[in-house]
Amino acid sequence: MTQERTPFAPRRRWLWLMLMGLVAVLLAMLVWLAGRYEASQVQDRLERDTNDAVGDVRAALTRNVQSLQALQFNQPTPDAWAMDAAGVLRERRELVRIEWRDAALGLRSHVDTPFRAPVFAKLGRDNAQSDIAQACSTARRFSGPAYSSSYFVSLADGLGMEVMDLCLPLVVQGRLTGHLLATYSLQDILDDVLGPQLTRSQEVSFTEADGTRLAVRGAASRGNRVFTAQQLLDLPGATLVLRISSWRGAPDIFPNVLSALVTAMSIALIAVLALLGKDIRRRLKAESDLADALAFRKAMEDSLVTGLRARGLDGQTTYVNPAFCDMVGFDAEELTRPNLPVPYWPPALVDEYQQRQAIRLAGNVPPREGFESVFMRKDGSLFPVLIFEAPLINAQGVQTGWMSAFLDISEQRRVQELSRASQERLQATARLATVGEMASLLSHELNQPLAAISSYATGSVNLLSDRHAAAAPLSALESDLALAMARIGEQAERAGKVIKSVHDFVRRRDQAREAVAPQALLDAVLPLVSLQARKLAVQVQTQVQADLPLVLCDRTMVEQVLLNLARNAMQAMDQPDMAHRLLLMRISRMPRRFTDEGTTAGSGKEGAGMGQKRWLAFSVADFGPGIAPEVRQRLFTPFFTTKAEGMGLGLSLCRTVVEQHGGVLIDEPNQPHGTVFTFTLPAIGVE
Ligand code: ADP
Repeated sequence: MTQERTPFAPRRRWLWLMLMGLVAVLLAMLVWLAGRYEASQVQDRLERDTNDAVGDVRAALTRNVQSLQALQFNQPTPDAWAMDAAGVLRERRELVRIEWRDAALGLRSHVDTPFRAPVFAKLGRDNAQSDIAQACSTARRFSGPAYSSSYFVSLADGLGMEVMDLCLPLVVQGRLTGHLLATYSLQDILDDVLGPQLTRSQEVSFTEADGTRLAVRGAASRGNRVFTAQQLLDLPGATLVLRISSWRGAPDIFPNVLSALVTAMSIALIAVLALLGKDIRRRLKAESDLADALAFRKAMEDSLVTGLRARGLDGQTTYVNPAFCDMVGFDAEELTRPNLPVPYWPPALVDEYQQRQAIRLAGNVPPREGFESVFMRKDGSLFPVLIFEAPLINAQGVQTGWMSAFLDISEQRRVQELSRASQERLQATARLATVGEMASLLSHELNQPLAAISSYATGSVNLLSDRHAAAAPLSALESDLALAMARIGEQAERAGKVIKSVHDFVRRRDQAREAVAPQALLDAVLPLVSLQARKLAVQVQTQVQADLPLVLCDRTMVEQVLLNLARNAMQAMDQPDMAHRLLLMRISRMPRRFTDEGTTAGSGKEGAGMGQKRWLAFSVADFGPGIAPEVRQRLFTPFFTTKAEGMGLGLSLCRTVVEQHGGVLIDEPNQPHGTVFTFTLPAIGVE
């Protein structure tokens, strides 16, 4: 499960995009605000500078007024006045001319600045007469200094300058005695009063209220960002505007430290965001991997047929898997409930189990191959389990409890029980069959001697009775002998009857015929055969032809035949140098050759009637050393054996049983070596 596969992936992508967008907008705003802040700082500084400049100009003008007033001290003569005035002009470069006029504004004396050619030399003073008159009338009204509005004066060199007059009324004892007129060059006010304080990137100018520039000082504006501040210079009789412009050199990417800081922080923020995104992606991946692993674990646990249970070190069950719940019939919640007597412990065994648990919790590791126990289902039924326990170790390597796996072995037990029962049954019938065979043989062998005894006894009795008939009286001894002979005859007959009844009893099994599937016969003996095969390291193979009909037989006896043949075959292969130990048990429809051999090897009567479809052939093949010719001659002879603990009845019994069914039992050499025993049984339902 990757990030793209989750249903929330598109929404998450949108959230990320929005977050990035917001951060970008925020950063842009920060940069912009920082720029704005910086601009306002510059503007503020400029406003302060302009204020200071206006203050400076005002102070300079006031100082000049005082200097000018000092010229009239002590009623000077015009010459003395001119000398003092020249001194003032040398000190004050912004003043270009000082005039002393009488009360009617007639010129009494004047001095021009020594720093430049006389300003009014070209046009004379008359042009400014009205300005002067107005300034002086204002001055008289205020009884103090008053300024005219500025005006332009053309100079002799073709240039010109903007000037402004100051009129100072001269009053002696309350009577107007004249006027002092001082002419200011606006350009020189800028140059001399403000010049030293200006920076290279500033331009200062006097303008009229409508913005017309009157005088300017400083560099022309360069660069993109120009800041301007202006302030009114309000003088009695005139008003000027002082304007200062300042500019920044090149357009700045990083206008100042603050902007640089903000930008650096923005980059850092974006980098952190990117790292965070990467980290979140990694976490998501880890999360989905974990979910996968959990799903895998759950699928694994759910598919297990083995019950799993985890216990803490205090014995409390902390986890059970579904298989365990199914096994005991309780649900997980009931099993993990704290402080409960374990519900699947049979009440009678609780004490024993508690002791076992205490031993386990004390740290004793149980046997690796597991141990058996008995649990109780919810319905109260008991069942056997195989338990494997192992310590539960956490990620830090500390034991936190015990993990147990349970196998319900009731089915295994049932199968074991069944196979044990069938084994016992087979062994019992094997013994019985052997006894029967022995009885049958004994009756066969004993019948003749008994018949002989009986006829000898009868003969003896007859002899004695013949003598009695010849009127020869029998002595007491003879009578006793006759009686004893008669008794011997009776007992011999009785013994014959007993033997016959035993023989009949054994033969009575002939009647126990039933229809059996050939495969069922094999299945019945296979557990027992396999048991011995495992002991002797023999591999067992069975081949049963498809769609075989049922056979009519005495099931138990035929199983005995199969068992005997298989046992003989495996014993034949039990030799140290025998590598190829394979036992092959086959059932098929009878091959044609048996129809011929049947007549000779079979009972004759039945064999002659054998049709190809009516008979099934059972064969047991081994890859042992085969049968030597001298052994083969006596193979079916009762009590013939080549084995130390053999009875020599197995094959003879087999043949008896097979022949009782009308079939034949033959032996043939196997290829490349070994022996094949084959017998036939009648099939039913096919003619
Ligand atoms: P027992 O098995 O008690 O000896 P049997 O009548 O079953 O009696 O067998 C008689 C003898 O036949 C055996 O002792 C053995 O020598 C021989 N025999 C039987 N089956 C085989 C076989 N598959 N391969 C070789 N010899 C065999």
